[in-house]
Amino acid sequence: MSRRKALLIPGPTNVPDAVRMAMDIPLEDHRAPDFPEFTLPLFRDLKNVFKTATGQVFLYPSSGTGAWEAAMTNTLSPGDRVLASRFGVFSGLWIDLCRRHGYEVEIIDVPWGEGAPAEIYAERLAADRERKIKAVLVCHNETATGVTSDVAAIRRAIDAADHPALLYVDGVSSIASIDFRMDEWGVDLAVSGSQKGFMLPAGLGIVAASRKALAAHASARSPRCYFDFADMIRTNKDGYFPYTPSTVMLRGLRASLDLLFAEGLENVFARHRRLAEGVRRAVAAWGLSLCAREPRWHSDTVSTILVPEGADANAVVRAAYDRYDLSLGVGLAQLAGKAFRIGHLGHANELMLLSGLAGAEMAMRDAGIAVELGSGVAAAQASYRQSSGADAGLQPRPRLAKSA
Ligand SMILES: *Cc1c(COP(=O)(O)O)cnc(C)c1O
Repeated sequence: MSRRKALLIPGPTNVPDAVRMAMDIPLEDHRAPDFPEFTLPLFRDLKNVFKTATGQVFLYPSSGTGAWEAAMTNTLSPGDRVLASRFGVFSGLWIDLCRRHGYEVEIIDVPWGEGAPAEIYAERLAADRERKIKAVLVCHNETATGVTSDVAAIRRAIDAADHPALLYVDGVSSIASIDFRMDEWGVDLAVSGSQKGFMLPAGLGIVAASRKALAAHASARSPRCYFDFADMIRTNKDGYFPYTPSTVMLRGLRASLDLLFAEGLENVFARHRRLAEGVRRAVAAWGLSLCAREPRWHSDTVSTILVPEGADANAVVRAAYDRYDLSLGVGLAQLAGKAFRIGHLGHANELMLLSGLAGAEMAMRDAGIAVELGSGVAAAQASYRQSSGADAGLQPRPRLAKSA
């Protein structure tokens, strides 16, 4: 049997035992008369996670990429113009998907380490007098660089230009981990997946669509079949699906939503902030820097850590895996070999991060990087004691639900 590995990558994330056990069940009949008693509350509860009262949630047996495809093809027609910023692998892949579907993408290229530039969106939208832009895309949390963007600011840019375009947000590595407010921010299509903040295996693509998005769907001519909202709308209203859903994943989703609500969404976000802050203090103690260039871009779900010039970040990831059974995230594309990533989202707590930081320190030393063993761990410990209230003599705050 292989040894137990520590998973500190930004997806897939660790699956809580309660979720794993909820999925260890016999297969069930997805056309059974009582199936809707199980599925209808799932849709309702997912809306609470997206913070939408008026939107509709769709669940596909796909990864997050399928949810991207569903959001785009259901609301756009070939040749439509899309405005998108690109500052990492995921924002880039989304643009690539749009191009392959025949949309014309106006790209705002931003240096990696920065996020979506609201002022440039505002300029481009104001300049679009003929209202050719149909879609405005923002990657809320760029998982390659560890950068979180201000979605509300993009909404303000759209409103300032009084522009009718729909707002699309990739929330695959933010929703259920970082505050996300679909209705308040006027998001029309919000995209997520199961294997990050939702603490599940990959295999569910999740899309939430606003009323305005559903209206756009009626005239959108992109070819679609598997992902068509229309078939979902027709069947979901009674608690069924147009084709076989992964009932096992849905059972897992039920358990994961129960955990999120038992902890409280705001507490979940606060926990992610605390865990991330400890990692950031560790990085500073190592004398290294994050790819995210300014605190306003810091992601609470993933930290992308630049190694010193001449060092090989892949050797760090390799040593961590080979010697210490620890999976760290590799640097992607232009960051390959230059950075490694620590995922601190989903089912995670202070001790999991501390052991991961300890492993990262050993692996960095093994790869010839002169960090002092224990320095990052100590900085994170101090941060976690502080944020737990221990060093101010406060009572412990309630932890994760017992069943976690
Ligand atoms: C993981 C991720 C995706 C892609 O999701 P898959 O489930 O791998 O298809 C898209 N966007 C972001 C920001 C991600 O982190």
